[in-house]
Formats: sequence, C-alpha cells, structure tokens
Amino acid sequence: CGIVGYAGTQSALDVVLAGLRRLEYRGYDSAGAAVLAGGGLATAKKSGKLANLEKELMERPLPSATTGIGHTRWATHGAPNDANAHPHLDNAGRVAVVHNGIIENFAELRAELRARGHHLESETDTETVAHLLSESYGAHVDLAAAMREVCGRLQGAFTLVAVHADAPDRVVGARRNSPLVVGVGEGEYFLASDVAAFIDHTRTAIELGQDQVVEVWPEGVAVTGFDGLPAEVRTYHVDWDASA
Ligand code: GLU
Repeated sequence: CGIVGYAGTQSALDVVLAGLRRLEYRGYDSAGAAVLAGGGLATAKKSGKLANLEKELMERPLPSATTGIGHTRWATHGAPNDANAHPHLDNAGRVAVVHNGIIENFAELRAELRARGHHLESETDTETVAHLLSESYGAHVDLAAAMREVCGRLQGAFTLVAVHADAPDRVVGARRNSPLVVGVGEGEYFLASDVAAFIDHTRTAIELGQDQVVEVWPEGVAVTGFDGLPAEVRTYHVDWDASA
C-alpha cells in the first residue's frame, strides 16, 4: 500500500527502500523493488515485512541503478505470498508495475490478455496492467502515452507507477481515486503515494490531479490528463514535520 519511484543520480534502490520504510505503517504483506540497469530490468520481492526484502537483497543484490520503483503491499486480490508481491512484470520482463488500489475490471482484462497469448503468473488484479502496458508501449514507443491508453481501459481506484527497460531514466505514474505526489529535487524526481517517502530529499512537491499521468526523468517532469492534454503543474512547499 506504499509506492515509491525515483529517477535521478543517487542509488535508486537506496532511495526506494528508505521511502518504503517511511510508508511501512500502511501495510506489509510483502515488499518489492525494480531497477533499470544495463538495458534491462532487475527485480526483488518478498512476502512479509520490508526487512524480508532487505535480507533478500543482501543475499542477492540488484545491480546499481539510478532509476527504480518499489512497493509495500496490502493484499486485496491474491494471497500475501512472493508471487503476488509487486512489482509485476510483463512476459518479456521489460515492464515493471506497482499499484495501490483495486482494478475492478481485472477479470475481463485477464481473459482478454490470455486470449491474446499472455501468460499471467499471479492472482493479482495488478498484473494485468503490466501486460497491457507492454502491448501499448509496443504500439506507441512512449511510456506516458502507453500509460494513458492503459488507464483509459481500467475501472476502479488506482495509483500506478511503472518503468520500462526500453525507456531508461524514466518513471511514469498515474492516479484515479488514490493519491500520487511528485517530489521535485535538483536533477532528481520522486513519485510516491505519500510525501513522507521523499521528505528527506526535497520539500518541493506536485500533487497529481484526478485522472492524470506523470512522467519524470532526471531533468524534468511532464503531467497530462488521461485524455493526453497537458496539465498545469503547480509546485507547493511541503510543511511537514519529518520527525513525526
Ligand atoms: N490490489 C493490489 C493487490 O492486491 C494492490 C494492493 C495494494 O494497494 O497494496 O496486489
């Protein structure tokens, strides 16, 4: 139920894990992370508390990377096990997605994806999004455009954050009926379900509006509506006691 994304110059995994630690009170059925490194995608996920993931990462470290996403799960669809932990990937292992909320029409989407030859490996509603994103990215070769197209097909409440191995340095996010905030740093951007995740790095934030998609890379941020129209981006100062 906690989401963190990072695009910048620091160790993405360190930033993501520190952010997840700050959000851990929201749920800890499982935790996972994905980073973009060497033209590919590397992931680690583990059921139970964040400490289980951290232990796993000590034993099997991920390659160093400056772009990444992470998640702590509050299970709604599927048991709280390793397979259902986020991030979820497409079959080629090029797209990774983390999600808070519920995709109401996941059963139809799942049937449709299976009919098109996709193999679904978890019981989650979330996994359908990874497969849809992979298809849409193939058609548009633009991660934000792909995310907009996919969101147009989803019903329910969701905060989504995703990366694609073919779009290194980029993280996209989207939201409907579930929060997503952008942390604006210098040469780095953060995406999170709560400002608490990035408060140690920056106090400048952008609150994503309803039905909007955001794309961040180390030098910038772009926000559009699900309809593709550019949205006004207004930053605000986070007045929040980090010691709380
Ligand atoms: N519905 C998704 C799942 O069960 C996301 C749950 C969450 O918000 O953590 O995996």
